Amino acid sequence: MKIETFAVGAFQENTYLVIDEQSRESVLIDPGAEPERLIAAVEKSRTTLKAMWVTHAHIDHVGAIAGVKRRWPVPIHLHPLDLTLYRHANTQAAVYGLPFDDPPLPDEELADGDQLTVGTLRFDVAHVPGHAPGHVMIHGNGVAFVGDCLFAGSVGRTDLPGSNGAHLSRSLEVITALDPATVLYPGHGPPTTVRDELQSNPFLNGTARILA
Ligand SMILES: [Zn+2]
Ligand SMILES: [Zn+2]
Repeated sequence: MKIETFAVGAFQENTYLVIDEQSRESVLIDPGAEPERLIAAVEKSRTTLKAMWVTHAHIDHVGAIAGVKRRWPVPIHLHPLDLTLYRHANTQAAVYGLPFDDPPLPDEELADGDQLTVGTLRFDVAHVPGHAPGHVMIHGNGVAFVGDCLFAGSVGRTDLPGSNGAHLSRSLEVITALDPATVLYPGHGPPTTVRDELQSNPFLNGTARILA
């Protein structure tokens, strides 16, 4: 497995290109902005893009979907509880005054307990609401893509429409129950591990509380 990271757009959102080196198949997780750059990265990887997996439907995570889908008509996977945010992504963008390319509707519904595969790699889906109602974590092979639930040293916002602090607290318990060595790839900023966050993240070591 190879993971390439691209911090894209005004929010420097992390888009991940996950490559199965055996089959040379790949997926994009959270294609958030700069579709031309992501398309060039897929082409440079000499892999076949198989799907787009979306952790949640905030604009910074979905803004390149339309452009990528025009290049390769691969299925878009999203949890149905984020469909309302997804459909109104252009309204979210207007709030920030950002140009926005409306994504086509998802092709596949993600659900807690689903398995996703790319080539020979298998991942599990966990529903981790709180930052967004249909937020998912995609984990396996020693890594977890946690979107905006958790960052190195911080946690996701819960003051947005559809956010819920109590739900995020429960979701963080799900994430931190993973093997301590699991490498966490967040929606923004550098990767970290479950062990490091349990020790030093103020929201997980008892120093700070999430406001519901
Ligand atoms: Zn978000
Ligand atoms: Zn984000």
